[in-house]
Amino acid sequence: MYPRETLEHPEIDIVAIGHAHHSLPLVLDALDGGGAVDAIEGVGCKVDGEVVINLSPTGNARRVCLDFDSFPSPARHLLDNELHYSFISQKQSLTIARTTLGCPCGCNFCAIAALPRGSRGVENVTAEATEVYERFGVC
Ligand code: SF4
Repeated sequence: MYPRETLEHPEIDIVAIGHAHHSLPLVLDALDGGGAVDAIEGVGCKVDGEVVINLSPTGNARRVCLDFDSFPSPARHLLDNELHYSFISQKQSLTIARTTLGCPCGCNFCAIAALPRGSRGVENVTAEATEVYERFGVC
C-alpha cells in the first residue's frame, strides 16, 4: 500500500505492490544476480535514488487471479515450532495457516478491499492440516 510514499522513507529500498506471492520470489532472484528489480511488475524500488513504480499495463500491479493452491506450504521444517505458542492456549507448538487472501467486504476506506481474493481448496487445506499434525505435532 502507498508504494511511492513508503519508498520515500530513506531506509526502504523495495516494496511489493499488492500481494507479493508472485513478485517476492522474482525480487529475491533479482537480488541474487538474476536481473533488475525495477523490471519486475508489481514492484517499486529506488534506482539511483529515484523512486520507480512498475505497474502492469493495466495499472493493477500483481492484481492477478490468485491460484492459491499452487503455492507450497510454508517451510515449517526450518522453524523451531516449539517456540511458537498462543497465550490463550495451554498447548505448546502452534502454527499459522492461511486459507484465504484478501477480504470479501468492500469497505470504501480500505486498500485491502481493492486486492484480489483467493481461497484454497478443501483438499489443499486438509493436506496441510494433516502435515502440521502428523509431521510437526501441532494439534
Ligand atoms: S476494513 Fe478492509 S479488511 Fe476490514 S472488512 Fe473492510 S474491506 Fe475487509
